[in-house]
Amino acid sequence: MSELRQDRTTGARVIVAPERGHRPRQPAAPAPSPAPGFDPACPFCPGNEGELPGIIAEAPSAAAPGWRVRVVPNKHPALRPLPPEEAAPADATLPGHGFHEVVIESPRHDAALADLSDGEIATVLSVYHDRFVALAGRPRIRAVVLFRNHGAAAGASLAHPHAQLLALPTMPPGVQSQIDWAERRFRERGNCPVCDELARERDDARRIVEERRHFAALVPFAATCPFETWLVPKRHQASFAEIDADELAELGPFLRDALRRLRRVLGEVPYNFFVDPLGPAETGQPHLHWRLRILPGLVRPGGFELATGLAINPSRPEEDAEALRGADGGS
Ligand SMILES: [Zn+2]
Ligand SMILES: [Zn+2]
Repeated sequence: MSELRQDRTTGARVIVAPERGHRPRQPAAPAPSPAPGFDPACPFCPGNEGELPGIIAEAPSAAAPGWRVRVVPNKHPALRPLPPEEAAPADATLPGHGFHEVVIESPRHDAALADLSDGEIATVLSVYHDRFVALAGRPRIRAVVLFRNHGAAAGASLAHPHAQLLALPTMPPGVQSQIDWAERRFRERGNCPVCDELARERDDARRIVEERRHFAALVPFAATCPFETWLVPKRHQASFAEIDADELAELGPFLRDALRRLRRVLGEVPYNFFVDPLGPAETGQPHLHWRLRILPGLVRPGGFELATGLAINPSRPEEDAEALRGADGGS
């Protein structure tokens, strides 16, 4: 029987309908052919710097090509910084002020996050964090979105491993409604809804995939798609900007291992992940608690989902968590 579940941390509703057809558990077809370690046509590969609009930051490396992770401006930015006099809103239009950056996660064209070493993935996460904090501190920025598209079907236009950050002059309505929900819930119950949910999930255990010292990985109660996975910090913290050094060091390998589990269960599938998009005003709030959410792209949203904003999940979160628990996250 299908159920309409509500996410207690965002208020969003999801239709869990396992009998709606085949559960996408079969590993997808293997990747067509292995990508080369270097692609002469790729702007993110070492040696092709002439194709880049610039370099914002680098994590240096003693070995060639001299960097491990690099931050560059997006060549076709959705938003760009504007001087204040050009950024005044008019009627229904807000000028496109903002920042759009790309984090090139490895000099290797064929590197996969799921295969990086502890040191490599730690560098990636610390660059994510540095840029998240830097962009949140820019003038007239209201929200920073850190996201990653993996695979053409998930919206990645370049194969070279990369993530993106978009800093927006306005809070997206979908995120604002989640913030409002969390604030109401906090007022009614006196607790952070994510802290509450995490305690409930750890008690129940059916949807927990793995726990480490600072983070838990779980399939949320109202998962919006098959194998949706959240990495949740155990210590209350509103924004990714507030993560401490020990937590950040644990998160890199934890994220990599979560991606490995997905690959073991599903094969090579497209996925998106993102951290909850928040801004400077949300830092330190008692009702907000960020997560990193991984969404495998097994089902595409159709007309119903687009019309209503309601997701239909053909998979039961408890069974997905069980499959992920059974898959080794190690190398
Ligand atoms: Zn490349
Ligand atoms: Zn909390």
